[in-house]
Amino acid sequence: MTTQMLNEEERMLQRLVRDFADRELAPRAQEVDEKEEFSWENWEGLSQLGLTGIGIDSKYGGSGGGYRQTVIAASETARGDVSASTTLIAHLSLGTSTIYRFGNEEQKQRLVPQLASGKGVAAWALTEPGGGSDAAALQTTATEKDGTYFLNGSKVFITNAEVAESIVVFATMDRSKGNKGISAFVVPKGSPGLQINPQKGKMGIRGSGTNEVIFENTPVPANNLIGEEGQGFKYAMDILDTSRIVVAAQCVGIGQAALEHSIRYAQQRETFGKPIANHQAIQFMIADMATQVHASRSITMEAATLKDENMPFHTEASMAKLLASEMCVNVSSQAIQVHGGYGYFKEAPVERLFRDARVTTIYEGTSEVQRLVIARHVLNEYSN
Ligand SMILES: Cc1cc2nc3c(=O)[nH]c(=O)nc-3n(C[C@H](O)[C@H](O)[C@H](O)COP(=O)(O)OP(=O)(O)OC[C@H]3O[C@@H](n4cnc5c(N)ncnc54)[C@H](O)[C@@H]3O)c2cc1C
Repeated sequence: MTTQMLNEEERMLQRLVRDFADRELAPRAQEVDEKEEFSWENWEGLSQLGLTGIGIDSKYGGSGGGYRQTVIAASETARGDVSASTTLIAHLSLGTSTIYRFGNEEQKQRLVPQLASGKGVAAWALTEPGGGSDAAALQTTATEKDGTYFLNGSKVFITNAEVAESIVVFATMDRSKGNKGISAFVVPKGSPGLQINPQKGKMGIRGSGTNEVIFENTPVPANNLIGEEGQGFKYAMDILDTSRIVVAAQCVGIGQAALEHSIRYAQQRETFGKPIANHQAIQFMIADMATQVHASRSITMEAATLKDENMPFHTEASMAKLLASEMCVNVSSQAIQVHGGYGYFKEAPVERLFRDARVTTIYEGTSEVQRLVIARHVLNEYSN
């Protein structure tokens, strides 16, 4: 994040997270990637800094702030370790935010403080084996009997589920009603009939757990229904709209890290008797990378500012997610080019960044889905 865009308090937050990321996240990133395991050390660090509750009111155990602060936290975390930022985003912008924004007062008081403080991790389960983009077609069912809901079905690709205290789950109570039949529930860890199977073998963000989650007559008490029956799809779409800004911020952090590694390497690697940074071809690559990172950062901050100021932000959020995710895939690829053969080996951080970046055009709405959202808006603006 260039500091010109930030006020003094935001700059302090940026410095705080950047120092933590440089000191703790980045040095562990390679090991976390190799082990393919959730890092409790990283989680402890994030919670000690208050990042697990950023954007959440202190009344519910959070650190306060809005989307601008969340963008700074996600971006600087990703700059140090992309897996840690994925864990944070699934916990905060997806799981905890759904309870915080749509839960009733009793639920917020009972569930949010533990999550915002980082004592517990949250997960968010929408995607199913049958498809993620067409979320309204989900098949997991919820049936009410004597004041208890019973869940049956399965979810896939659920980040954090293996370590989560609370999983926000979307299930249909009436398939004939389409998306209006969907409700949202909080399923606590250890619930009967809840089975969590880690999905190993990811290309990137390997330190962030991804899981299949199965429900077999899993009972959910009535006081864990979030908001109203039949409103779950609306909550899910609202959450994805805002979380897109935070994923865009993650992408900015990836691009920034790839750029910084490339600059450092270009200044010390010599060919033909001079640093490669003195060759114009490398300078042009660095210029393109810096420009792309800056453009993505600007639109991401714009979307966050619009959201914080209660202005329409949905199109900008989709544009930010689309631009920034495609940017970080391109920029991390260019970073490998700058590093030459060394960039192709695991010892090079840019090799990991390239693998980590790849998922960002897929999760929280693929690039194709973002284009659908943007096109719908733009075409509407010019109709009549
Ligand atoms: C590492 C990882 C972590 C994840 N974490 C979570 C999580 O915590 N919680 C959660 O609920 N989900 C999570 N997901 C799921 C993710 O959001 C979905 O993978 C994503 O929404 C795409 O769904 P899909 O994989 O079923 O692809 P599909 O929906 O089957 O799409 C396949 C392809 O078809 C394209 N396509 C689909 N429909 C259209 C259309 N109408 N027009 C044009 N193109 C279209 C897509 O863009 C894509 O290219 C995660 C995924 C990954 C990989």
